[in-house]
Amino acid sequence: MAGLAAGSAGLTAVIGWGVHSRRQFLYGLGLAALGLVAGPRAWAQAAGAATHRVVAGDTLSRIAQRHGVTVAALKARNGLKSDRIIVGQVLIIPDGALLAKVIAATAGLKIERRRWRYVVAHHSGIEAGNAKAYDATHRRRGMENGLAYNFVIGNGRDSGEGEIEIGPRWLQQLNGGHVRNSHYNEHGIGICLVGNFETRRPSAKQLASFTALVDWLRDEAPLGVKPKFTAHRWVDRNHTVCPGRNFPFEEMKRRYG
Ligand SMILES: [Zn+2]
Repeated sequence: MAGLAAGSAGLTAVIGWGVHSRRQFLYGLGLAALGLVAGPRAWAQAAGAATHRVVAGDTLSRIAQRHGVTVAALKARNGLKSDRIIVGQVLIIPDGALLAKVIAATAGLKIERRRWRYVVAHHSGIEAGNAKAYDATHRRRGMENGLAYNFVIGNGRDSGEGEIEIGPRWLQQLNGGHVRNSHYNEHGIGICLVGNFETRRPSAKQLASFTALVDWLRDEAPLGVKPKFTAHRWVDRNHTVCPGRNFPFEEMKRRYG
């Protein structure tokens, strides 16, 4: 983008942030005229977003991993239609706080290829608690490896709403303890959303985190296989209502097939 088009894009962005005075408006116009506000890149820099200048040997997946974001989010943020990037290109790094910890922690693990064949959805059945609290509960119940799930997604009470906590069994690549069916404990990644979905729906933020995590596990994580989506009550039939009647099963089936 160059010339007038770039200036307009910049100006739009400045107005978009909220222009509170004539002075700010003129300041925006001035930056646009000087070419200092030019398209999404300058917008990102002005807004404090991180950027990455592509160097020889870079790939989208390497850049994504380094910045703790997904390839999908990186492409979406930069409007990329293919995986092709060129040396010198400046990419905006999307806000990746959500999955950053998971991606960074997983990058250091030795994961057996094709082991993790399922993602198993759970609810905790109670509104209180977080990974640490459930770890203590599971240890009291005699599970020596503690927290039975691989990941816990908070509801905003004892951990952030939509915060993704990583369990020790994921970090040590141990079998889960989240279902009765041992095949699914060995090959299923247990994700627990905090809450009782017999009485309410998971919040939008919880679901956004859940789908971001499952998307990443299916499409980008180094698993060597695309894990299938399933839910606790389908694994341990006639034994549990988990993850609750208000869990959006149909939506997830449509999304994950
Ligand atoms: Zn469950």
